[in-house]
Amino acid sequence: MRPSLISTPLLISNLDFSYSRKQKHILEREFRDKAYHHIEPHLDTSSGNASAIKPERLKFNPNAIVYFEGGCKRYGEANLSIGAEAVQYGNLCFEGVIAYWNEDQKQLYIFKADDHYKRLVDSAKYLDIELGETQEDFKNIIVSLLKQNNRKSHTYIRPFAYRSDDIIGFTANGSTDFGVYLMPIDRDVKSIKGLNVCKSNLVRASADAMPLWYKIGGHYYSSAHVKRDALKKGFDDAIFFTHEGNISEATVSNVFIVNSKDELITPPKSANILMGITRDTILQLGKELGINAKEEHIHESAFKDAKEVFFTGTYVGMAPVVSFEGKPIGKGSTGPVFKELHKKYFDIVLGNTEHKEWLTPVY
Ligand code: PMP
Repeated sequence: MRPSLISTPLLISNLDFSYSRKQKHILEREFRDKAYHHIEPHLDTSSGNASAIKPERLKFNPNAIVYFEGGCKRYGEANLSIGAEAVQYGNLCFEGVIAYWNEDQKQLYIFKADDHYKRLVDSAKYLDIELGETQEDFKNIIVSLLKQNNRKSHTYIRPFAYRSDDIIGFTANGSTDFGVYLMPIDRDVKSIKGLNVCKSNLVRASADAMPLWYKIGGHYYSSAHVKRDALKKGFDDAIFFTHEGNISEATVSNVFIVNSKDELITPPKSANILMGITRDTILQLGKELGINAKEEHIHESAFKDAKEVFFTGTYVGMAPVVSFEGKPIGKGSTGPVFKELHKKYFDIVLGNTEHKEWLTPVY
């Protein structure tokens, strides 16, 4: 039986059943003293965007408290078997959630936690994983981990649900579980340094073969392949196109364009995209700003005539694209529509203005 997570506040003592009282005391003390202190971001200077940090190179703190197998563990001790279905076949789903630190308010805000929970549940169902955690449990676990790890700066949160049995081949049943870990974000989240991007070296898989709106580990093979290719060629990222020649999305973000009529357009679900939570937010904020914001297919030719192009995503935030395949987009610099949306977006996620209903305060 898994321990219940309903009680609050969630402390090591009521989450973790595998440590002795002395070990828990040491863990808590160590955490207060040195949570994340030795983490150094790896600065990627190999591409056009010298401020881009490769998230995969951020060092994880082996002592960080994570949620794993129904309780709290250290990051370094929360290990999946090499034979697990999730490890060998990518049969897991995950979320990328963000918590922004507001230094003036001394507050950490989790952005749209409920939307991330819903998307995780949808992806999990597709993998026949039934999440034991309710929406409230999900939020409580995240809030508890942020507190236990003493997070007082922007933090990326990675909840995931996975098929855990050691197995060759597949079964209809099998064990499943849920975990969460955190990662500090040590970069300027508001950076508007332009990205130089290329066309992906793979066509977007079709949705009837691989429905990419489910955020499933195995689906990311193509993003990883395409991103590596783009980096090797000296670009910051790549954009996928569908078989019909329409834009799909970038490797870990959605794409927006501002066309010659100053309309804000992003591809629809039928372009086989992840239905980004940031994408949804930007569509709404665009409308609130009186911009004609809509979902529509964008053909490669229209894309090349765009006045502005930018990416959105939880980790990426909002990132302007200044060139495609070496040719400038618009004036080759960050455009006015991007700047207006960017300001509004960061005012909101930092808890400085309206839409407080999207935020979960941690402290
Ligand atoms: N597309 C892909 C493939 C992604 O991995 C992400 C990041 N989750 C996004 C788009 C952006 O989605 P969101 O705004 O929900 O982070």
